[in-house]
Amino acid sequence: MTNRTNRCILCGSGRKSKEYAIGSKGIYKCDSCGLIFTLPQNRLTQFSEKQKAIYEGEMYRKMYFSIRKKICHRAEKRLEEISSYRTTGSILDEGCSYGFFLEVASEKGWESYGTEINKPAADYSRKLGAKVSNCFTEDAKLKKNFFDAITMWDVLEHTENPVKHLIFVRGLLKKGGIIAVQLPNIDSIASKIAGKKWAWLCPDDHMYHFSVKTLTRAIKEAGYDMIEMRTWEDPTVIVDSIVARIKSDNNKAMNSAIDKIAIPFYIFMNKVGFLFYPYHWIIKKYNKGGLILAYAKNK
Ligand SMILES: [Zn+2]
Repeated sequence: MTNRTNRCILCGSGRKSKEYAIGSKGIYKCDSCGLIFTLPQNRLTQFSEKQKAIYEGEMYRKMYFSIRKKICHRAEKRLEEISSYRTTGSILDEGCSYGFFLEVASEKGWESYGTEINKPAADYSRKLGAKVSNCFTEDAKLKKNFFDAITMWDVLEHTENPVKHLIFVRGLLKKGGIIAVQLPNIDSIASKIAGKKWAWLCPDDHMYHFSVKTLTRAIKEAGYDMIEMRTWEDPTVIVDSIVARIKSDNNKAMNSAIDKIAIPFYIFMNKVGFLFYPYHWIIKKYNKGGLILAYAKNK
């Protein structure tokens, strides 16, 4: 759905139902295909000064650097998977942030490119060796039919029209090139527990809220062959969701107490993750993990 046409971007239907109201925003579901979206939508091109200050600020940078090791470890795993579908060549990471993924890609022999609207992040990622444009992918002067792989980690849900965006990206890929997409799963157990308080609804930032079903349809509509789609998550996400669910809207003292009580549960979940094999088996089998990961090929 978009503000302008009010038609579903996946199926064209104009019929929708409101799932949640969050402040001045509504989370709606298409009655026909089940795509979930935010209305009214903030345009990514019209980032408010407040949002810009958050993303370009020191707090965000510190948070990002605090998880650098985790990001690099995950990047290695993702690059191994990408390489199993397409051997090393040129790679574009959309919204590459501080360039940690591209740094690992370069080490593995990929020719690394990025796009990033956050200027301090784009500047830093260039220092790590990647060729990064400080703008939206659509505005970057990138060669058509050039890339072997394009990665979109937490990007597609921010776009004004994900199907159009995927079609644009396909034009940048060589024939047989790969896309890797990761985004939050609205159909996850964590989302169901937290309801309207689910952290990843982010109605100011996230315009679309995909499930495996709706993301599969979007990728196919954009002309790709699906290779693999799965869901995954860290068990501590469930603690996040329970905490979010039981917090009060206006009792700060109670919320602070809930945060303190939750700490041992986070530690417990981190230490005994191996006990949660049945949980991981369930989320894998039924696609209920908090994040969806998809690989698809340009035909
Ligand atoms: Zn629809």
